[in-house]
Amino acid sequence: MKPVRFEYVAPSSLAEALAVLDQAGWGGKVLAGGQSLVPMMNFRLVRPEVLVDLNPLADLAGIEQDAEGWRIGAMTRHAAVESAAALAPLPVMARTARLIGHWAIRNRGTVGGSLAHADPAAEWGAVLTALGATVEVARRGGTRTLAVADLIVGPLTTALEPNEIITAVRIPRAAAADRWGIYEVVQRPGDFALVGAVARVAGDDVTWTWFGLGGRPETRSVPGFGRLGEAERTAALKDALAGVNPQSDGHVSGAWRQRVAVTAALRAYADATGDHAQGGYGVHHG
Ligand SMILES: Cc1cc2nc3c(=O)[nH]c(=O)nc-3n(C[C@H](O)[C@H](O)[C@H](O)COP(=O)(O)OP(=O)(O)OC[C@H]3O[C@@H](n4cnc5c(N)ncnc54)[C@H](O)[C@@H]3O)c2cc1C
Repeated sequence: MKPVRFEYVAPSSLAEALAVLDQAGWGGKVLAGGQSLVPMMNFRLVRPEVLVDLNPLADLAGIEQDAEGWRIGAMTRHAAVESAAALAPLPVMARTARLIGHWAIRNRGTVGGSLAHADPAAEWGAVLTALGATVEVARRGGTRTLAVADLIVGPLTTALEPNEIITAVRIPRAAAADRWGIYEVVQRPGDFALVGAVARVAGDDVTWTWFGLGGRPETRSVPGFGRLGEAERTAALKDALAGVNPQSDGHVSGAWRQRVAVTAALRAYADATGDHAQGGYGVHHG
């Protein structure tokens, strides 16, 4: 299918992009990597009247490190995160980027686009929530900062106003003091995760953020997890996840997700604590 007719705008500055969006109201949309938006437009699930292309705005891409932590421009491609030397102290970033889709998707898709799209199975929403990251958001005449945890409010739903653009993501330096791991289950390599978990390990205390489990990233902590025996760990994770009640869909049941979320959390923990053979992804043959 083809999208409905729309006006295409290639702005020469962020100010111009914000002015066009402000005028377009709910009829306006920004185009980042186009990896989610363009298929949705082709299926006519989204019908913007005005499409504002962020690709000409080179200042929106790039990864910088300063005393406070890291600043990743919203238009930074997943592939750029995969190979960024500046992010070496936070290896979970490159490990996460490698789990997203295929090379062609990582080469076009952007960090800001993934957050704004808010797919419940997307890795960045969960990882950046776990890292305590914030987003810088611009609108005509102003800016605001909000936590990624507050940005994503539900499936494909964010706290962004239609005239707002995410300009960057900030990760606090403190995140690098902890150990991190990630594990997800997919049907085929490159697919969206059926369920996945990010583990943050601070001494014996562990916090997990799951993706593909609920409508938005789900975070739970188990203090003293590192001191527990194997059976106690599984029981503690089951307890932590009680009441989540994930949805069933055409791929797997909610009960399957709830069960496999425990395995994903254990593997993410093993990844964080040095057994990298257990991190990454596993294929579900269902
Ligand atoms: C086959 C396939 C497999 C995929 N697998 C995965 C996967 O495993 N994991 C995963 O996380 N993703 C996956 N994706 C999605 C991919 O990561 C997309 O890149 C991402 O979800 C959207 O980013 P984008 O830059 O392409 O945004 P676009 O598609 O251009 O935009 C998506 C939405 O975000 C809005 N938007 C974009 N940028 C901004 C901004 N800076 N400020 C405000 N709003 C903005 C757009 O208006 C639009 O509504 C897959 C996609 C495909 C096609």
